[in-house]
Amino acid sequence: MDFSLSGEQQQLRDEIVAFARSELNGGTAERDRAQTFPHELWLKCGERRLQGLFVPEEYGGRGLDPLSATIALEALGYGSGDGGLNFAICAHLLACVVPIWKHGTDEQKRRYLPGLSNGSIVAANAMSEPDSGSDAFALTTRAQPDGDGFRLNGTKTFCSNGPCADLIVTYAATDPAKGYYGGITAFMVRRDTPGLRTGPPFDKLGLRTSHMSEVFFEDARVEGNAVLGGVGAGSGIFAQSMDWERTCLGAIHIGAMQRLLELAIGHARTRKMSGEAIGKFQGISHPIADMKVQLEAGRLLMYRAASRLDHARDIAMDAAIAKLFVSEALVAVSQDAVRTFGGYGLIEGHETERALRDAVAGTLYSGTSEIQRNIISRWLGL
Ligand SMILES: Cc1cc2nc3c(=O)[nH]c(=O)nc-3n(C[C@H](O)[C@H](O)[C@H](O)COP(=O)(O)OP(=O)(O)OC[C@H]3O[C@@H](n4cnc5c(N)ncnc54)[C@H](O)[C@@H]3O)c2cc1C
Repeated sequence: MDFSLSGEQQQLRDEIVAFARSELNGGTAERDRAQTFPHELWLKCGERRLQGLFVPEEYGGRGLDPLSATIALEALGYGSGDGGLNFAICAHLLACVVPIWKHGTDEQKRRYLPGLSNGSIVAANAMSEPDSGSDAFALTTRAQPDGDGFRLNGTKTFCSNGPCADLIVTYAATDPAKGYYGGITAFMVRRDTPGLRTGPPFDKLGLRTSHMSEVFFEDARVEGNAVLGGVGAGSGIFAQSMDWERTCLGAIHIGAMQRLLELAIGHARTRKMSGEAIGKFQGISHPIADMKVQLEAGRLLMYRAASRLDHARDIAMDAAIAKLFVSEALVAVSQDAVRTFGGYGLIEGHETERALRDAVAGTLYSGTSEIQRNIISRWLGL
């Protein structure tokens, strides 16, 4: 087993860290306060095809293998302190671009992937509903045949990028009696579809620069070519996208942990109390040592899961283990970073304060920590 990055991966990492540091960090605290989605920064990320890291070059993406793309996302999380923007890119890439790349027809891929990869199309994924969250496949949004297309009716919620999305990958029941086993279909619904409406952005604790809303389908008619992967294939498409999201979104968290660790070390070395650098007190140095352990352990879990994407027959358990560990570790690391900065770490606008608020969301989206434990238990035969 070789844990070192290849020369190309190191170059990719350096490129994205330098880009993120110079282009993405200005005004983050102000955007967070105002809950503004930074569309111009989104487009800058698109110039580097960050929204199309896995997409083959012939469809306008960067054509990276899953592990290299994960290293690129880690570099983004390390270089950019805008957790909302980082998350918005991942929600778009992992829950929308990946399904279209994996399951779209050649015509669908040519129509959407170039714009999705360069950021000119913003995508959202609409699965959760007011009465089906953790039990996502209990959805009630219906898609009924209408000529050569379908009519969609229902309400989706917690739709990341919803308010600014041009394209919404939507899951709806085409055969409720079949449910999970062939009864759910994925649709690519364009924003200009009559009968599609999005609600105002939610006011939320963290990830405030990414927008999230409800999405309403009121007799929204789509053509047959909006179906992704075939009628009834939606459950598998969604489950696969969650494996990718659980694995690769963790890369953003690993990058954030590295940044927070370095911030904490810097402060512990320079802040003096009673004539000594606070890092000389074990009460400060030991939690920082724990931050380093969480970071290194999380990185290995995440790299292992990423290296098996596209290779192993089923990576659901690896993805759940990586997601559970990394998202919970980020909360612990963020809390220790705040603790290291004392009262300053709590002041609105401080990087650690924002990081802690952003971290909480990671234990909820792509399935809560309890749901990851359920998946792992199931794989253990429990
Ligand atoms: C920042 C963010 C972004 C999101 N983005 C999207 C998106 O883009 N698209 C989308 O479709 N959805 C999105 N979601 C929704 C997300 O997938 C759901 O919030 C999540 O699945 C939990 O559903 P819920 O909020 O309805 O909570 P519930 O399912 O009501 O759960 C409430 C509590 O009960 C626990 N619980 C529920 N069922 C079980 C069980 N069987 N065993 C043990 N405990 C259980 C949960 O762990 C949780 O603690 C997002 C959520 C967040 C926070």
